[in-house]
Amino acid sequence: MPATARCTPLRRLILRIGLRDGLAGRAARGRARSQTGPVPEDDGCPKRMEYGPCGGVRPDLTCEMAAHPCPFAVGGEVVAWHGEEPPAPGPSALLERARTRPVVLTDLTVRPFDAANVRAVTRILAGSCDALLVGEHHGRPDFPPALMATLIRDMGGQPVITLSCRDRNRVVLEQEVAGLAEVGVAGVLCVTGDGRAPGVRLGATQVFDVDGTRLAALAAAAGLVAAVPEAPDAPPVPIRPARLREKQRAGARLAVLNHVGSVDRLAAFAAAARAAGATVPLVAGVAVYTDEHSASVLQRFPGLHLDPEQVDAVLRAPDPVAAGIAAAVAEARALLAVDGVVGVNLSGSASARGVEFAAGIKAEVGRRISGGRAT
Ligand code: SF4
Repeated sequence: MPATARCTPLRRLILRIGLRDGLAGRAARGRARSQTGPVPEDDGCPKRMEYGPCGGVRPDLTCEMAAHPCPFAVGGEVVAWHGEEPPAPGPSALLERARTRPVVLTDLTVRPFDAANVRAVTRILAGSCDALLVGEHHGRPDFPPALMATLIRDMGGQPVITLSCRDRNRVVLEQEVAGLAEVGVAGVLCVTGDGRAPGVRLGATQVFDVDGTRLAALAAAAGLVAAVPEAPDAPPVPIRPARLREKQRAGARLAVLNHVGSVDRLAAFAAAARAAGATVPLVAGVAVYTDEHSASVLQRFPGLHLDPEQVDAVLRAPDPVAAGIAAAVAEARALLAVDGVVGVNLSGSASARGVEFAAGIKAEVGRRISGGRAT
């Protein structure tokens, strides 16, 4: 049989998702809405999500992108995964390691479209962090995912690549998933994506053909480790644990959590997720900041809550870099003590003094957490 005629699990899922979205997508989205109360058609989800709500719901349960209630949030129910069963999970060095000791992921902050800089920053981080999380930023695009993954791997790093549904249609997402499976990555963080802020990249459309949950199913079908985000403190808080369970049912094998306001909040979320049936290992967000700029970027992030007293203590310390490193390590250790948390993600830009300097800060945090046992 020629290679093009073979029907791999990924191809089968692509065909099924395509058929469902093409012929019955509107009906499916209608079902989603009907589970969360009657919502007029023009008050639907601007991201065309089937498995909402996203993490951008406002405190009054209105939509992050439109002036109406979020249809997924107001009913207080979670949309059950009604797609394909994910395939049996394949081996994962990252998940295997997480069974024996805490793993350290770190956000990769680099200069856009600068391969030499990706290599330089990876070289700084690779020995101290188990995986480098490549983000997607609405105002700061960068090289295509497969190229980023290749650059990182070439320097000894293990990439976890974020794929967002905002800027790619379904065909391109399928291509990216296939490309990352070919290159070999530690994981793919499957996100729906924030709505683009007003005035950013005028003229660029926002696609949202699929949402993060369906993208996780695509990644899992390709044999990739599908990671998913969840925002424990984002409204509506009570349904976030069950929403994670449904992402797991779609194929997610790792959850990367937004930073939460306290260890107790994380413990409450982890316990509620377990009670809801979500067994997927959790990676907790640890904020790394050593100056006003790096702290304020994190404070502006939707659904991310920093302790203002802690921020103040770091910024007013005689040596804010040392204080920021110590604060991040202490926070990481406290979060890793929570049952179900297998690792941390060092998030944020860490410093305004250049990306190499910032990478050095995160590398030191990673070394202290992992005791130099990364990768
Ligand atoms: S808040 Fe998010 S999930 Fe809810 S309607 Fe708006 S875009 Fe959709």
